[in-house]
Amino acid sequence: MAEAYDPGNIFAKILRGEIPSHRVYEDDAVVAFMDVMPQGMGHTLVVPKAPSRNMLDADPATLGPLFAIVQKIAVAVKKAFDADGVTIMQFNEPASGQTVYHLHVHVVPRFEGVPLKPHSGQMEKPEVLAENAGKIREALAG
Ligand code: AMP
Repeated sequence: MAEAYDPGNIFAKILRGEIPSHRVYEDDAVVAFMDVMPQGMGHTLVVPKAPSRNMLDADPATLGPLFAIVQKIAVAVKKAFDADGVTIMQFNEPASGQTVYHLHVHVVPRFEGVPLKPHSGQMEKPEVLAENAGKIREALAG
């Protein structure tokens, strides 16, 4: 049986506005914000507002709207950073590398010959995250 959802997880706190994030997108069902330990420039997380630990316990009705926005963000980050490609990742439970237990999808712009940095590696400077968030918001708007 799946473990229970913990409403004290860090993304739930971000969704409730209890801790800050660099948001690039929000609608009724989904929020997207910058990953603070990016595996590449422009690494963005797309998070449904509905609570679930991960894909294994999510309501299937959550997934359509979530992945529609994953696509939207993937197109926007490719444009914002003039990337060559985009990696989309999603982890379920510790054995897979999940560290935050609220469903989320990683969207990472990719550049020829540039490897991904380690998962949950180094913190990025807030000013860099703010600048990159601005570029993504611009790409989403235009
Ligand atoms: P996962 O291993 O798939 O659960 O990924 C969790 C991700 O959340 C990692 O890439 C972390 O760098 C990122 N992360 C952790 N805390 C925060 C935070 N406060 N704001 C934004 N991203 C975060």
